[in-house]
Amino acid sequence: ATPALSAADNKNIVRRKLTGYVGFANLPNQWHRKSVRKGFNFNVMVVGESGLGKSTLVNTLFNTALYPPKDPKQPSLEIIPKTVAIESTSADIEENGVRLRLTVVDTPGFGDFVNNDESWRPIVDSIESRFDSFLEAENKVNRTNIADTRIHACVYFIQPTGHSLKPLDIEVMKRLHTKVNLIPVIAKADTLTDEEVTAFKKRILADINYHNIQIFEGPRYELDDDETIAENQEIMSKVPFAVVGANTEVQIGNGRKVRGRRYPWGIIEVDNEDHCDFVKLRQMLIRTHMEELKEHTSNVLYENYRSDKLTSLGVTQDPSVFKEVNPAVKQEEERALHEQKLAKMEAEMKMVFQQKVAEKESKLRQSEEELYARHKEMKDQLEKQRLELEEKKNRLETGRPLEEKKGRKGFSLR
Ligand code: GDP
Repeated sequence: ATPALSAADNKNIVRRKLTGYVGFANLPNQWHRKSVRKGFNFNVMVVGESGLGKSTLVNTLFNTALYPPKDPKQPSLEIIPKTVAIESTSADIEENGVRLRLTVVDTPGFGDFVNNDESWRPIVDSIESRFDSFLEAENKVNRTNIADTRIHACVYFIQPTGHSLKPLDIEVMKRLHTKVNLIPVIAKADTLTDEEVTAFKKRILADINYHNIQIFEGPRYELDDDETIAENQEIMSKVPFAVVGANTEVQIGNGRKVRGRRYPWGIIEVDNEDHCDFVKLRQMLIRTHMEELKEHTSNVLYENYRSDKLTSLGVTQDPSVFKEVNPAVKQEEERALHEQKLAKMEAEMKMVFQQKVAEKESKLRQSEEELYARHKEMKDQLEKQRLELEEKKNRLETGRPLEEKKGRKGFSLR
């Protein structure tokens, strides 16, 4: 789409078809290539009681053994930690030349204690401390290339009880929803029937609504086309995603191997949308909404945290001052400026192009006129020659009898 131009600019711009390759169509690719070279990063947190299939799902999502298999030996009770731990695992994964640095933050121990009242605290602390380090880095003089360790998405695993949310779920979600993009999922959905899943989803959403918990809602619609809007609605209609994880392949009827879980009564295929919502969750996290998750983290969640923090530190935010120090606003302004520049460049290119076309056209017209004049001149000349020849011919033809007559006359005269 053409960046916004003023009405006056628009009036001056005539749409022209280019007759040759100019090259500014490559502009988006230049940006794209730069991002590809730099690589992308994505930080996702998984929260849920142990055994709900968190590590299995992450491995299934990224199709890689990000999590090493768990030690089958259960730790003895004495060495089980008394608090929720925060464990971060990073991996560089690459697909078709695009690099993604993926960090998965796990919260082992969550919900596993007799008293889980404070289970949310280490999780909230971790999210906030990541905001804090970002804030600190932003305030440094050298602000280029800040490592973004902020959590971009939090997949919250709900136990497949089929009842409703537990008080712990509600408590934790309430603590987290203003700080992170919450994506609730029903864990191990293969343990419920389709009807149970549908009813469970309804009750979960009702609970979430009742407690005013804000879950991630996908991109805002304003700028999107109908197809994107429909795609987003399709994804969002599945929330909370009923997921199944499996890192092993099983053979199905036609000999094809698929990722899934085998049961005496049949096979649940992870990548089959009729069987579970895994595909939709992956689409949201990785294929369509990753950028949106990151933007929302940066522009809304982090910004709110940041302004609250500054206010609590006694920094009053006079809007003009805020604008000056607010990197998100600044970045937005820089982007707008950049877009303006691009628009100007494009307009200039179009103008130059138009000028060139006009020049060519007038030259062509001139040479056409010249050609026509020459043509006319030649035609006139030829016509003149033809008339002369005609006259000569006539004279020759009529000349003989005339001479004869003359001769006869002369003769008779003689
Ligand atoms: P975590 O503790 O939440 O990381 O859970 P794990 O990924 O280690 O999984 C715990 C157990 O549940 C393992 O035996 C998995 O094979 C099994 N499991 C994982 N995902 C699923 C699932 O979607 N459905 C079923 N039925 N079992 C699962």
